[in-house]
Amino acid sequence: MKVNKLNVLSNVKVSDRYWHIKLDATSIKDSIEPGQFFNIKCGENDLPFLRRPFSIYRINKEEKTIEFLYLVKGKGTIRLTDVVAGEEVDVFGPLGIGFTLKPEWDTILLLARGVGIATLAALAQEAAEKNIKCIAILSARSNNDLLAAETLQGFGARVYKVTEEDGTSDVEDVKQLVVQLLTDYDIKAAFTCGSKRLSKLMQNAAETHHIPAQIALEEHMGCAMGVCYACVCDIREENGISSVRVCKEGPVFDLEKVVLG
Ligand SMILES: Cc1cc2nc3c(=O)[nH]c(=O)nc-3n(C[C@H](O)[C@H](O)[C@H](O)COP(=O)(O)OP(=O)(O)OC[C@H]3O[C@@H](n4cnc5c(N)ncnc54)[C@H](O)[C@@H]3O)c2cc1C
Repeated sequence: MKVNKLNVLSNVKVSDRYWHIKLDATSIKDSIEPGQFFNIKCGENDLPFLRRPFSIYRINKEEKTIEFLYLVKGKGTIRLTDVVAGEEVDVFGPLGIGFTLKPEWDTILLLARGVGIATLAALAQEAAEKNIKCIAILSARSNNDLLAAETLQGFGARVYKVTEEDGTSDVEDVKQLVVQLLTDYDIKAAFTCGSKRLSKLMQNAAETHHIPAQIALEEHMGCAMGVCYACVCDIREENGISSVRVCKEGPVFDLEKVVLG
């Protein structure tokens, strides 16, 4: 089993709605890939009963630390904010299939919204390590929710911010931006997370521009081990549509195969 009790190094509020938690990952021996996730026990005494899934946000191999950026949403994430430095959290992972980043893709486009930005930040980190140029469109309700933008810029990514607050996040506006960037930067592959509408947009744009694209899906999960089938989604295969588990066969899939509805 991949259950670890990890020491909490910090757990702090970083904006109106988001918190950031940093854990000592010395005891994790598996390699951790961007796009993979951990299923975290958010409170003591089995409350809430189900763990909550969070994508890896940052990996520091030298420090042996891992970080998560989380939106405070309901019972689980509210409990998680109670954890303080020096305590331990029970994490299960790394889980799932992460992103594939081919060396021949010298320039990539990221399109993320909301908590999806946290998921793609780890990919921007890997791109920087592999000298792959990263262009990122980050979408959120407000500028206050775009705190991970600085993290991506720190990895050398060229960041374009769109928000409801600024009136720049309409799907049509983002579509125009995507098409412009695909052309301007000679993008070789695209990656998306956090919004079905934007993912559909990216799916169409990737098909039109003949580039590969991947998506990290987020679905409600029960066990996160492939047993309960709470997180199934539909995938287009050669011989029709099949149902796959986001926790086991994903969460990252080829975008062209995903039925987005
Ligand atoms: C792979 C993955 C990566 C993610 N990464 C991040 C991240 O990096 N940052 C972030 O902020 N968020 C992330 N999320 C979303 C995050 O898991 C949820 O926001 C979090 O679970 C909310 O928990 P809560 O108790 O605060 O909210 P609530 O909405 O109160 O509870 C949500 C929980 O209810 C249960 N539940 C509700 N409906 C169902 C259902 N139909 N079937 C099964 N269980 C159900 C599940 O336990 C679910 O996790 C990710 C989700 C996935 C699947």
